[in-house]
Amino acid sequence: MLDVWRNVLDEIEQSISSSQFSTWFAGVELLSIDEGKIVIGVPNIFKRSQIQSRYSEVIKAAFEHNDIKVREISYDMINGKKSLKDRNNHTSQPQTIKVNIERNSTIKPLSTGLNPRYTLENFIIGSNNDLAVSVANNIVEHPGEKYNPFFLYGGPGLGKTHLVQAIGNAITEKHPKLRVLYIPISSFYSEFIKSIRNNRGGGDEFRQKFMKIDVLIIDDFQMIIGKDQSQVEFFDIFNSLYQANKHIIVTSDRLPDQIKSVDERLASRLTWAGAFDLQLPTFEDRCAILRSKAEYQGVFIEDEAIEYIAENVKTNVRALEGELGHILAVADLKGMTPLAVINEGYAGTTTNTRTKTVSPKHIVDQVAKYYKLSVKEMCSKSRVSHIKNARQVSMYLLSKELGLSTPKIALEVGVKDHTTVMHGIKKIDNDLKLDFNLRDQINSIKESIYA
Ligand code: ADP
Ligand code: MG
Repeated sequence: MLDVWRNVLDEIEQSISSSQFSTWFAGVELLSIDEGKIVIGVPNIFKRSQIQSRYSEVIKAAFEHNDIKVREISYDMINGKKSLKDRNNHTSQPQTIKVNIERNSTIKPLSTGLNPRYTLENFIIGSNNDLAVSVANNIVEHPGEKYNPFFLYGGPGLGKTHLVQAIGNAITEKHPKLRVLYIPISSFYSEFIKSIRNNRGGGDEFRQKFMKIDVLIIDDFQMIIGKDQSQVEFFDIFNSLYQANKHIIVTSDRLPDQIKSVDERLASRLTWAGAFDLQLPTFEDRCAILRSKAEYQGVFIEDEAIEYIAENVKTNVRALEGELGHILAVADLKGMTPLAVINEGYAGTTTNTRTKTVSPKHIVDQVAKYYKLSVKEMCSKSRVSHIKNARQVSMYLLSKELGLSTPKIALEVGVKDHTTVMHGIKKIDNDLKLDFNLRDQINSIKESIYA
């Protein structure tokens, strides 16, 4: 059941903005599924009403996409004691209760892996992406012809996934006979490894599945690992599809020759037809994106508020969306307009005002305070789990917020060896993927750090 819930959360996270996701789904758990009756545990009454009114459809769709029939979704409060307990027990997972999962018995069409939320219509064209967008339109008109492979690169949060999924969605609409598959390279790998393990044909079935595809979209190519068998497999599939005039679309955060583990021949093939990049949006681009996102959600926002956000969030579109989502959520909560939220000082989870300089000591103090420990206790050698966890959270925040080197962090938190610090940061990074309580805690600590 945990797997199901994890998949459902992943999907919800994909279909709403990440700030909305962390605002509303932190601490939300799946309590039971029984013959289509789904009970979801929420931490408080406020979240319950918000989730119920805003996200019921999204939740339902996410279950259904995971082959779970939904008859009814109800929301139960997770009682105070339990959530309290969870707060102090960072590794705890949502409780598993006996479930009876009813699978949809109808046969599904071949899954494209595409998220319908990403369309060309809602991809805002600006000076930062117009070239890539015209290539995208060209591919949608004539898949398999020009710009093959289409190699799209750019920093995180600049719209790579959105644009390539939008191409996929547009192709399925325009050319319904073509089979499109979107797959992150990491899933390509895990499927490949699974198929070798499970299947006597040594991956034949896997290869055959890909050979049926007309448009293959590979996301996050930079995550390709090692010059091992799966890279050879990828290269093979790439070549066969290419020779059969199938369209191949690849995204990456950098050029292939900057990825160490990539075979040189593969690297050069990927950019045969050129490499197109997405750049940072300019101020005008940022305003246009914000305006259209607000419009799309059907909410009111003042021009001044838009300009404030565009002025302060310069990193990427994801951060822009995050800040907009945050301000709109607070506006909704407090019954204020977005501009009032900014003027009252509630903005700024991701804005530059955040980069207000704080000292390492301040961070360590705030973490200790949050976990009700003295700094001395937290920075001791104690292996008691909640103390160790607090220490690791300090390491994590010193690294993420201040960019301190691991030897410096070691000094700040009183450990001898900087590899202990590396391990600590990695541990928190990993835990954060699944542990919503920990996400909550770290967000609260950050609030207090920058308060
Ligand atoms: P990447 O894959 O490059 O890390 P994403 O495609 O996930 O980035 O984009 C991050 C977020 O920003 C997504 O929610 C996406 O919809 C949005 N986004 C990025 N660029 C644009 C754009 N030009 N117009 C509208 N939304 C965009
Ligand atoms: Mg992406």
